[in-house]
Amino acid sequence: MENVDYSIMKTPEGYVCSKCGKSGVKLWREYQTLNPELACAGCAAKSEGKDPSKINSEGMLESDLGLTDQIGWYVPAVPDEEGFGYWGYTSVPQEGVIWWRNLPLEPVF
Ligand SMILES: [Zn+2]
Repeated sequence: MENVDYSIMKTPEGYVCSKCGKSGVKLWREYQTLNPELACAGCAAKSEGKDPSKINSEGMLESDLGLTDQIGWYVPAVPDEEGFGYWGYTSVPQEGVIWWRNLPLEPVF
């Protein structure tokens, strides 16, 4: 995967939903998987039995426990800046969180 610059709203090559092929949007990844499959909001929600209309533009899902950025077993897929992989769910740097939150939920044309 290529390097990511958190200061620009551009997703790296390969940052593509593995199910529907959507790119240029925020993606989630399966939790604690070495080679995680990426999924867009709609696909992650579908596979976890969640209502995609409950996911807001920042990628937050309304749940019984309040707003969360997890969709079932899927967590935000935030690539590291060196292109080695993805940040662990609890170790994403703040700039990465902001980058991810600002990505669109749906492709912008
Ligand atoms: Zn998808």
